[in-house]
Amino acid sequence: MSEKFEALKDRTMKSVMNTYGRYPLALDRGKACTLFDLDGREYLDLLAGIAVANLGHSHPEVTAAIAKQAGELVHVSNLFFQEPQVDLAEALLATWPQADGQSGRTGRVFFCNSGAEANEAAIKLARRYMHVVRGEERHEVITLTNSFHGRTLATLTATGQDKVKEGFHPLPEGFVTVPSGDLEALKAAMTGKTAAVLLEIIQGEGGVKPFPEEYLKGVQALCREQGVLFMVDEIQTGLCRTGKWWAHQHYGLTPDVVSVAKALANGLPMGAIMATEAVSAGFQPGSHATTFGGGPVVAAAATKTLEIMTRDRLAERAARMGDFAMALFEDLAAAMPGKIAQVRGLGLMIGVELGQDVSGKEQKVWEELIRLGFILNLTQGNVLRLLPPLVIEQKDLERFARALGDVLGNV
Ligand SMILES: *Cc1c(COP(=O)(O)O)cnc(C)c1O
Repeated sequence: MSEKFEALKDRTMKSVMNTYGRYPLALDRGKACTLFDLDGREYLDLLAGIAVANLGHSHPEVTAAIAKQAGELVHVSNLFFQEPQVDLAEALLATWPQADGQSGRTGRVFFCNSGAEANEAAIKLARRYMHVVRGEERHEVITLTNSFHGRTLATLTATGQDKVKEGFHPLPEGFVTVPSGDLEALKAAMTGKTAAVLLEIIQGEGGVKPFPEEYLKGVQALCREQGVLFMVDEIQTGLCRTGKWWAHQHYGLTPDVVSVAKALANGLPMGAIMATEAVSAGFQPGSHATTFGGGPVVAAAATKTLEIMTRDRLAERAARMGDFAMALFEDLAAAMPGKIAQVRGLGLMIGVELGQDVSGKEQKVWEELIRLGFILNLTQGNVLRLLPPLVIEQKDLERFARALGDVLGNV
């Protein structure tokens, strides 16, 4: 590591709270799928800031939209109307078949600033909808083991992993966790107190774990049967990542509420929930708010992001490139079965689970890949998680697959 890096690391360790296990790398600039470190070294970005920079880094049109809006109006209180926010709300709803305004279906959006806040809003909306619209005392939210929904007190309680809860008790009431993929367990947990089920279509942080279609359809059917809201966390899977606008579209699901964040403004902090018209009635003036939510600059960046995703057909591209990448990794897995246990995913959300022959050396594999110039994430201890910008090229995926084969061949 260079002196420049060591100096920056030292300053960071002294001044910033020690909440992140950081990679031994300081990033300085980015362009499309390429990132540059402090010393000008180039990296292929296969992580996109964890599914954030879906259009690639420093997209010139998004940068221009930010600059233009920043020169006109940066902030205005949500006590006032403003056009950038409604432009975005309309553009976002147009991507959601549940609320596209055709066939009489409509929906509404609430804007916030992060994924955790989006799930927090979804949970509050579910409770208040049950209370004020349905007049029922239903307040419990059921989530799944191995899920990830955020780090606020409510969303870490909703998260089905103990590691995020450690040291933070007492936790808020009204959350129930059931085993992932088990319909009977879900059915048994539903009572007259259940307000909603909240799940990811593919568990991202949990190790890129997709669910069988029958399970997802079964969850929705159970929700409808029991009068429970079906809420989908699309914070990581949404916005073209899996080859469709929303991952729930792969299975023809019709959730009542969808939470969105990460890629929404291609790097500026923004979250949102979309809900059907009926469920949206759970919020009334004063019931929920945030100072910065849907601010003009982030809204302009997000509207431009959605426009580019539509124009450049990035959902189709993610599906095509995802198939290409999966085939590469499956070939590798077939060639070295002890080194790769399984390749999972949908579109450009891919997990490569390392096998027995790499046991105990997963961290080394990942560090070696970074050393070779590839940025990706190791999650759950043994899953290489790939969430590249959706503009990634075939030759880059091939280059990475070759490097992965070499590194695995040498451990
Ligand atoms: C990242 C993520 C969150 C939390 O988003 P933040 O912006 O970090 O609060 C919630 N749910 C899922 C599925 C995520 O991937």
